[in-house]
This record gives sequence, structure tokens and C-alpha cells, in this order.
Amino acid sequence: MEEVKLEFFNPTVPMDFQYNYRVGPCIQKLLDGFAEKKIYGSKCPSCGKVVVPPRTICGACNAKMEGFVEVAQEGTLRSFTVGHFYLEKGQLKKAESPYVLGLVELDGVDSLFLARISGVEPSGVKEGMRVKAVWKDQVQGDYADLDHFRPA
Ligand SMILES: [Zn+2]
Repeated sequence: MEEVKLEFFNPTVPMDFQYNYRVGPCIQKLLDGFAEKKIYGSKCPSCGKVVVPPRTICGACNAKMEGFVEVAQEGTLRSFTVGHFYLEKGQLKKAESPYVLGLVELDGVDSLFLARISGVEPSGVKEGMRVKAVWKDQVQGDYADLDHFRPA
């Protein structure tokens, strides 16, 4: 097989600035849950679908969603991709080793949750495999608290 040499356009885009971002009550609940190593979603009172992250309007039937439900921390990997590059401050950089991003269907949840998949070689990752959440030791109510999913 002929080796393909990839060339990239590497624009320099300085992105060093801080801003405050109001996440809204649904994402705030998700992050508050992360601070307790819990995952919250919302359940539609009309059609019964459960979605993570929580949201205010059901994407399936447009009903108003009220309240939050804690959901399972295990699920099924429905799709994934293997990354070899990443963006850092506008620069495309080669990853030290390939990494996996997956769409996880948590048990009892009707939506897919994007997360890093680890604890298994990329070549060993399969659609349909069971995975479970792995939290950072120190959680603080941040997206990064839920570090990755690993095989269950
Ligand atoms: Zn609904």
C-alpha cells in the first residue's frame, strides 16, 4: 500500500483569552452532577425519552421537559473514531498516540454521549462493547471531571 503523506495548513490563531459563559440550568445540573460523580439527564413527561445532557425541550416530541433524572454510568459504545491529531490553540498537533472518541448510549438513555474511550487499545475498540464512566479523582463540577469511558 502506498504511503500517503499528509500536509496540513497550520494557521496561527492566538486564542488566549478568558470569558464567562452562562451554561443555563440544564448544563449546570449536568456539571453539578459531575461534582458528585453522577450523570443527570432529563426525561420527557410526554414520550418518556431520556436525554443526556439534560435539555428543556424534547427533541422527539417538542414537549417541555421538567426536572432531572440520574442515569446509569454504564452503557454501550454505538460508534467511535480514532484520532491521530488534535487542535491546541489553533495549532494542529500530532497526538503522542492514537486516541478514541466514542458515542456512548448510557443504559436507559435515548441519546448518545460523546466521550473519550480509554483503557483499551484503539484496535480493540468495537461497536457494541460495554463501557463504564471513569471519573477524575478530584472532581470540581467541570466537563473534564468525567475523564473517559473504559470497557466494563
Ligand atoms: Zn418527548
